[in-house]
Amino acid sequence: MAEVVFSKVQKKFGAFTAVHGLDLNIKEGEFVALLGPSGCGKTTTLRMLAGLEFPSSGEIRIGDRVVNDLAPGERDIAMVFQSYALYPHMTVGDNMAYPLKKRGVKRAEREAAVAKTADLLQLTPLLKHKPRQLSGGQQQRVALGRALVRDPQVFLLDEPLSNLDAKLRGYMRVELVELHHRLGRTMVYVTHDQLEAMTMSDRIAVMEGGKLQQFASPAEVYAEPANRFVASFIGTPGMTLMDGELAEKNGSWTFTAPGMTLPVGPLNESAKAGPACFGVRPEHVNIGSGPVSGVVQVVEKTGHENIVIIGLEGGQRLKGRVPAPRSWAIGETVQLSFDTSFAHIFAPGTHGERLNVPVAPISTKKTNLTTVKSGT
Ligand code: ATP
Repeated sequence: MAEVVFSKVQKKFGAFTAVHGLDLNIKEGEFVALLGPSGCGKTTTLRMLAGLEFPSSGEIRIGDRVVNDLAPGERDIAMVFQSYALYPHMTVGDNMAYPLKKRGVKRAEREAAVAKTADLLQLTPLLKHKPRQLSGGQQQRVALGRALVRDPQVFLLDEPLSNLDAKLRGYMRVELVELHHRLGRTMVYVTHDQLEAMTMSDRIAVMEGGKLQQFASPAEVYAEPANRFVASFIGTPGMTLMDGELAEKNGSWTFTAPGMTLPVGPLNESAKAGPACFGVRPEHVNIGSGPVSGVVQVVEKTGHENIVIIGLEGGQRLKGRVPAPRSWAIGETVQLSFDTSFAHIFAPGTHGERLNVPVAPISTKKTNLTTVKSGT
């Protein structure tokens, strides 16, 4: 088990910079997701940690060793990929034993390690089966087992659930979280699926354009997004973001967009009067009464709740979340208010920083890691 530290890591492919000056300090035993849209640099970051790519500059450390120049086999890591890449002609047991065999570990020791790992992953009854006889989820568990059998310091997982159907993904998410709790190993997990990142991680590194946008707990990236990009990327459905103008009078701030003027704040010292963006999550939109008027355009029914999409003056659309069966008819005019203590103000631009000071900040509360050491 070890901490993982990226210091000012940059990766260039020719003239193109895929990862810009990345600083990331992953604690011992932590489960960290690298999350971001396609092309954000998350896989390149993981591959540099694995030793499959080498940084153009900067330093990567695993435990107390700088690993920049070490080959993958010298890093004491194990990697699980999106494709299970099991050997079809070998049994489950032989697949799991393979990394040990390659390292010259003796048969008795191999068999003991495989038996222990199979027991942990509930694969014991399947040890004599061939991969084709297994379901997708079982095959992914064997791929995990092959990584676990060596007991490495750090696990690297590259979208390991993306080949599974939605139900199996949900099941494997729970299995992985349980496994992490039992093993207490450092795990770095690449995903573009924010639900996976939110439900499994101790902390999420949100990346975009090769740059780290925020590194914080799931609760924090949701409630205190560092900037407009993070605010728009996290949450299902996403936060409504409206462009408008910020104005200040006698220390009180207001935000104005077509058809609305709202009191906002408190804001931090970077706030300036002028163009700004107002952000509100669907659960903080109150539909029924309030100073803002809109027309219901679509109602998305998910069973337990309805997402109401409302058109505002000026063409802006916003989303409100209401528990089912409460709903509205399409075309109905509704009045709205916002729970402004949970709303956000961002500086202009796609990466505009958050300017409001959270009313009940999560960022100042201590984040406890809930992992336990293996053997306890
Ligand atoms: P995805 O989810 O699609 O895999 P990602 O966030 O993992 O995306 P990376 O695979 O890390 O993104 O790629 C980051 C950027 O670097 C992309 O623009 C990609 O085209 C580029 N890139 C990655 N590998 C290479 C390479 N070997 N040569 C040139 N460019 C590369």
